[in-house]
Amino acid sequence: MVPKSKRFLIAFEGIDGSGKTTQIILLKEELDRLLYQTLITKAKKPSQETAFKKFLKTFEIASDSLSYMFLYQALHRKQFEKTVAALENGNIVLADRWSGSFFVYHLNFGPLSKGPREHVALLNTLAFENLKPDMTFLLDVPPQIAFERRVRRGETDTFDADTVCFYEAVHEKCRAFAEENGWIVIDGTLPIETIHRQIWDMVSEKLGQ
Ligand code: ADP
Repeated sequence: MVPKSKRFLIAFEGIDGSGKTTQIILLKEELDRLLYQTLITKAKKPSQETAFKKFLKTFEIASDSLSYMFLYQALHRKQFEKTVAALENGNIVLADRWSGSFFVYHLNFGPLSKGPREHVALLNTLAFENLKPDMTFLLDVPPQIAFERRVRRGETDTFDADTVCFYEAVHEKCRAFAEENGWIVIDGTLPIETIHRQIWDMVSEKLGQ
């Protein structure tokens, strides 16, 4: 059987624990079954946090959100290059986050949010070159539920009042950004299989399956 070639980029956005990995794996299985060539790309992985902290400490760089932004932009650029190469080879790329998370954070929080919006757009262009996904899904999950899932998955982050407040704000800004940018908002609190069916119905329609 000859693999199917299709240049298509699908991005998944949502806070940690919202179910992106779970849905991406289910969608990939469905696409693989239909013999599409697929690739998952992801910039952010847990081990980087430790490596970044060590790097900043070694070179006596302030451990603030601007420093992290530059480091993450290198990873975003790598994700972009992998994504473009796969698209050019006729893959459907499933991106575990794309530029959306970058915009939501830097337009609303940290030092960049206090400067001109164009700075954020320009920095984004350097990494993602304004490549827009064909579809973007936002898995919308209240921060408290996402936190409980992260704890169940073995993470040990704290959820004090300040953190709750921050995550609530990110959650709200993310929904607003989704609306402005035509993302498909999915209720991420539904059962895993229900969400997968909703996503698959929309993706298969777009692909003409
Ligand atoms: P993310 O990639 O967004 O951080 P994951 O897909 O890793 O999220 O999901 C986080 C945890 O929540 C996992 O343990 C996963 O099994 C669970 N999970 C994912 N989706 C759901 C859902 N719809 N309902 C309940 N638990 C879920």
